[in-house]
This record gives sequence, C-alpha cells and structure tokens, in this order.
Amino acid sequence: MEIAVLGAGTYGSYVINSLIQKYPNAHITLFDVGDKTVKNEKEIGFYSSLKKSIYKGLTDGRYFGFGGASDKWGGQLLTYTENDFKKPNKFMKEVIALDKKSKNEMLAKFKIKNDFPENHVSEELFTKTGVWLSALHRNFFYWFKINRRKQVNILSHCRVIKLNSQNGKDIEGVVYLENGIEKEKSFDFYFLTSGAFESARILLSSNLITKDKIYFSDHLSQKVFKIKKSTIIGKEDFVFRMRGTSLITKRMIGEVNNCSFYIHPVFNLQFPFFESVKEVLFKHHFQWKYIWNIFRDIPNVVGFAWAVLILRRMYVMNNEWFLYIDIENPTQESYITLSKEKDKFGIQGLDVYYNIGSEAVDIYQKATDIAINHLKNCNADYELLTEEINVQTCEDIYHPYGMFNFQDIQEYFTRWNNMLVVTTGCLNRSGGINPTASLLPVIDEFINKFL
Ligand SMILES: Cc1cc2nc3c(=O)[nH]c(=O)nc-3n(C[C@H](O)[C@H](O)[C@H](O)COP(=O)(O)OP(=O)(O)OC[C@H]3O[C@@H](n4cnc5c(N)ncnc54)[C@H](O)[C@@H]3O)c2cc1C
Repeated sequence: MEIAVLGAGTYGSYVINSLIQKYPNAHITLFDVGDKTVKNEKEIGFYSSLKKSIYKGLTDGRYFGFGGASDKWGGQLLTYTENDFKKPNKFMKEVIALDKKSKNEMLAKFKIKNDFPENHVSEELFTKTGVWLSALHRNFFYWFKINRRKQVNILSHCRVIKLNSQNGKDIEGVVYLENGIEKEKSFDFYFLTSGAFESARILLSSNLITKDKIYFSDHLSQKVFKIKKSTIIGKEDFVFRMRGTSLITKRMIGEVNNCSFYIHPVFNLQFPFFESVKEVLFKHHFQWKYIWNIFRDIPNVVGFAWAVLILRRMYVMNNEWFLYIDIENPTQESYITLSKEKDKFGIQGLDVYYNIGSEAVDIYQKATDIAINHLKNCNADYELLTEEINVQTCEDIYHPYGMFNFQDIQEYFTRWNNMLVVTTGCLNRSGGINPTASLLPVIDEFINKFL
C-alpha cells in the first residue's frame, strides 16, 4: 500500500511512527512545504487576513517545516477522562474512552509517564497534572527520527494545494507545487496533517467540504488572580516540579453552561532572566541581552538555579504568582473561508472571522466566582486583579477545535474512504486542556484496527 502523509509536523510525524510500528515495510511519501528550518506564516509565505477581533492563532501559532508547531510548543501532553465534560457528545465520549485505554502506551512512546490522579478539590473543580516533554526533545519529527526512516520518502519544499476527488469520498490524487511547478501523485491512502487551518483550506479548495465556511473556536485566556505567600491551595501544591528535564504542572478544571474552563498557575512574570530561559528553550531564540539579564538580578538568578537544580522545582519570585483562567470561547460565528487574496505561492489564502461569543463574559464571571469560592475556602492569600473581565483583551492560545462536527469515531474514520484528517480541529470540544495529545490514541486506534 502506498501512503501519503501531507505535512511533516506534530501529527504527521506521529502518524508515520505508528504506521511503521504496524507495517515495518510501509511505503510512505511525506510532503512538506518547508524543510529543516522551521518558519512562521509570514516567513513561509502563507496568507491569512483577520476580519473582526484579534486572533493570533494563524500568524503566531502556525509553524512550517519539519516538526511543525512541535518545534516551538510547550510540549505538554494531556488527555481526557470522564471528569472533563459533563455532557460530552458521542464523538468526545469515544475520544475519552480511547484516551483512557491507550494513554500509558502513547506516553511511553515519548518515554514519559503520567500516573498522577485527578482530585476533586471542590464540587465544581478537579485537578489535572500535566507532564511535559523533555525540554530537549520537543520536535516530534526528530523525536521519531523521521529523517532516518528508510520507509519514508521526504518531499520537502512541496506545497500541497488540493486533493482530487470525483465523488467527494475517494481521493484520487494530491496536487502540489514544487519549485512553482504543479504536479500530481496518486496513493492508496492519505493522511491530511497540514495543521488545522491549512488542512481546512485544502479541504475547502478541493470541494471536499460541502460548505464554503469552516467554523471553529479556540480558548480565551486571562490573568485573573495574584496569589501570595504560598504555592499551596487547599491540599494541592501548584508549583511546577522537575522530573529529569521534564516539567510536571497542575491546573484546576471546571465547566459552566457546557463550556470548560481551567485555572492554571503562571510564575515569574516580572523576572527577565526567566523570560530569557523560556525564549531559548522554547523558541530557540538567543540574544546577548539574555546574558545581561543574569547580572541584572543575581539574587533571584541564584534562587532560580538553586530551586531548579537542587530542589527540582520552579522558583517563585517574591513568593508571588498568578492564576489565569482560560475558557472555551462559546462563539458560534467564528470561521475561515477562502480569501480572494493569494499567497506567495499564488494560492488562495484564508480570511479568518473570529468573534468572542456573547456568553463569554458570563462564563468568565461564573468561572471566577467558582475560583474565588475555592480560594476563600482554602484560606488562600489572593488578590483579584480585574473585577470586570474584558474578554476583548484576552490573550488567545492556539488550540483550534470544533471544525468538522463528527458525530462519532466511526464517522470520523469513514468520512473519506481513503483519507484521515488529523488536527485538533477534529475535536468537538477542547475542554480544559491543551488538546494535541488527546488525539494520539485515536490515531493509533485507526492505524491498528482500521487501516
Ligand atoms: C507556542 C505554542 C505552544 C503550544 N503548546 C502546546 C502544548 O504544550 N500542548 C499541546 O497539546 N499543544 C500545544 N500547542 C498546540 C500544538 O502545537 C498544536 O496543536 C499541534 O502542533 C498541531 O499539530 P499539527 O500536526 O496539526 O500541525 P503542525 O505541527 O503545525 O504541522 C503541520 C505541518 O504541515 C506542513 N504543511 C502545512 N501546510 C502544508 C502544505 N500545504 N503542504 C505541505 N505541507 C504543509 C507544515 O510545514 C508543518 O510541518 C502549542 C502551540 C503553540 C503555537
């Protein structure tokens, strides 16, 4: 069987590893628009325009080249349990079941383990502990050694532009641009793993989606509390810990009106040295001023080094830290559609309409009240930073979901006869987690049982 994987990013790399585990003699052709230098939207030359509101998911959250966004991400691998949603639909119920069944096996592929229990800390909140990938191994393409697999033929600098299909169910070929020349190749099976927005663009351009818009949503995030004196709230310590070069973090998750929210700690916001460490570790970005940041604040730098190297936990500057509340944006009106504008490749870009749902203020208020209740019950020393939540100023984070509305896993696996689309956009809900890893057990189920 000849298999095409369209995109060498996070999901594309995971798919290839799972394919080779099942079929050691697989023939895989991997298409990627970039190469080993990972680029953002502007650098690669893609086009998106923002209509209404501010959403940086495309300009700041998309990365192109080997490893895709996993080259720049946090690398926190989280999955769902029954605690995550009060009323999950059938698709999400099945994702939860697969997550529970295969979480350990999936995490073992990254040599990590997460056996921390989820604790109900109040009637409305439970905790979820996250284990991050090692700071030194975040890029899935290199972690799975895709460049060294003899089964994989890598076509770099090949921009997939559309898929050919006469009946809308069977994919007959992939049309791509190589050095400005349009080419086509045919395969038995296709994995569309070009990232949420570009995969959606390809489906729209190929008329494989019957509508001309693809709706989506994402999380909204806002700094809400300053916490003083202790990192412990009730019986839970929220300070990040280190296990090897991996971080262990904790959050509290709840839900109001079918919208999930999560309350998560952020440390050292006013500590320039810590900001420099994050820039270097996550963005592989170095500036000489980072060295100067060491000398600007020697006592805190020494405290940081002691905490990380000896105590194996996050340093908390001035014993003060922040709680952010992130919610699922309850928007019904955010969508992407093909733009009239063309990108550097001469291909139609995307117009993005992103609205913050009118119920968002109410959800934030209710989530904040739940958090205040809990902080009070635990006698935490906190300061409310903003009485009124202005959701227009929320930072956004890059977990697009709700693009395809699959009813159940069977429909997801069979929407196309010889193609599986893999992106967080396939999830109906994102819940209170960074959801990338929640789909990995689903990919394995497909490859092991259906392919
Ligand atoms: C700063 C940041 C931090 C994050 N932290 C976390 C986290 O801690 N935990 C978490 O779960 N999620 C996190 N995320 C989200 C996570 O990065 C994404 O959900 C995930 O990487 C999506 O994987 P993907 O395979 O869909 O896309 P990508 O990894 O972006 O891969 C897409 C690939 O397709 C290629 N491609 C694109 N278009 C084409 C085309 N037309 N033709 C050929 N190739 C193409 C690209 O070059 C790229 O390699 C974070 C995101 C960001 C931006």
